[in-house]
Amino acid sequence: MKLKLLSALFLLGVWACHPVKLAVTAAIETTPVSSTDDAADDPAIYIHPTNPEQSVVIGTDKQMGLEVYSFTGKTLNSYAFGRINNVDLRTQFRLPNGKTIVLVGGSNRTNNSISLFRLDPETAELQAINAEPIISKVGEIYGFCLYQKDKTYAFAVGKDGRVEQWELSGTMEGKITGTLVRFFSVGGQCEGMVADDELGDLYIAEEERGIWKYDANPKAEADRIKIQLLSENNQIKGDLEGLTIYYGPNGTGYLIASSQGNNSYAIYERQGNNRYIGSFRITKNLRIDGTSDTDGIDVTNLVVNETFKNGVFIVQDGNNRENKTKLNQNFKLVPWEQIAKAFSPPLNIDNQYKIKH
Ligand code: CA
Ligand code: CA
Ligand code: CA
Ligand code: CA
Ligand code: CA
Repeated sequence: MKLKLLSALFLLGVWACHPVKLAVTAAIETTPVSSTDDAADDPAIYIHPTNPEQSVVIGTDKQMGLEVYSFTGKTLNSYAFGRINNVDLRTQFRLPNGKTIVLVGGSNRTNNSISLFRLDPETAELQAINAEPIISKVGEIYGFCLYQKDKTYAFAVGKDGRVEQWELSGTMEGKITGTLVRFFSVGGQCEGMVADDELGDLYIAEEERGIWKYDANPKAEADRIKIQLLSENNQIKGDLEGLTIYYGPNGTGYLIASSQGNNSYAIYERQGNNRYIGSFRITKNLRIDGTSDTDGIDVTNLVVNETFKNGVFIVQDGNNRENKTKLNQNFKLVPWEQIAKAFSPPLNIDNQYKIKH
C-alpha cells in the first residue's frame, strides 16, 4: 500500500516536472523580422475570400511596425508604422459609402495610440486610415483586439491592466474615427486579448494570474467569469500571453492561450464554461526549430493552401534558430490538423465554417 502511494507520488512528481507532452512541428516559418532582440510579437491571419492562395499573415515587429507575409513565409511588405505591439483584423468593415474594407488595427507604443490600416487584398499593401490619432489613456498601451457585432470596436489594454473599448466609425472620406465607449480595470498586467464575434465574449489574459471572460457589449458591466487561474492548472505557467479563437459551427470551437512560462499552448472549449482540454508544444523538425517564449498567436479553421488544407495555427517564436545560429525572431506556422490529431479524442476540424456577424 505504502509502495503504491510512493510510486503514485513519484509519478505525480514526474508529471509536474514535464507537464506538457503533446508536441507538433511547424510546416513553415516566416522570414525573420527586421529588428534584433525582442521584436516580433503578434500575428494576424487574413484569408482571401476568392483566392485563398493570396491569403497573408500580418505580424508585428514591435520595434518598427508591421510586416506582411505570404503563407510560404516570405516577407511581401514591411512598414515602419511605429512600435506596434499587438495586431488584429476584420475582413468586413463597412464604410458610409457602402464599400467594405479589410480593417487592420494595432496598439502603437510610439504615441500610446490605436493605429488603423486598410489591407488591399490584391496587393497585400497596408495604408494608414486613421481620420485622427486615437490616443489612449491607459498606462502604456500594450494589448489589442477588435470586436465586430453590429458595430466594430477596438479593445486596448495597458500595462496597468486598464481596458478601453473604442467604437470605430467610417467617414465619408474613407477614414476611421474612434469614440471611447467603455473603460474598466482588470487588475494586474494584461496583454493577450481576443473577442468572440458570435458569442459576444471578450477574453483577457492577466499575465501572472489567469484568463478572464468579460461581456464584449459596450453597455455591459465589468463583471467577469474566471476561465482558469495559473494556480489551478500545472500545465499552464505564467506569463499568460496571446489568446485566439478557433471558430466552429453552433458555438463550438476552441480558445487557445500561449502559456509562455512553459513554452506551450493551452486549449479550452469555446462554448459553455470553457473547459480545459489540454496543452501542446511546438518542437523542432529537420527544417524548422521549435518555439519558445511565445507572445502572440492566431488561428484559422479555413483552408489556406495545400500545406494548410485544414486551417493553420501561427505563433511568435521568441528564440529563432537556424542550425546553431540565432536569428531575429519570427513566426512559425503549424497545420491545424496536426494539432487536432495530436489530441485524443482528436479536436474538431472544419475548414469551411465562416462566422456570421
Ligand atoms: Ca517576447
Ligand atoms: Ca506580455
Ligand atoms: Ca525557436
Ligand atoms: Ca507581447
Ligand atoms: Ca528558424
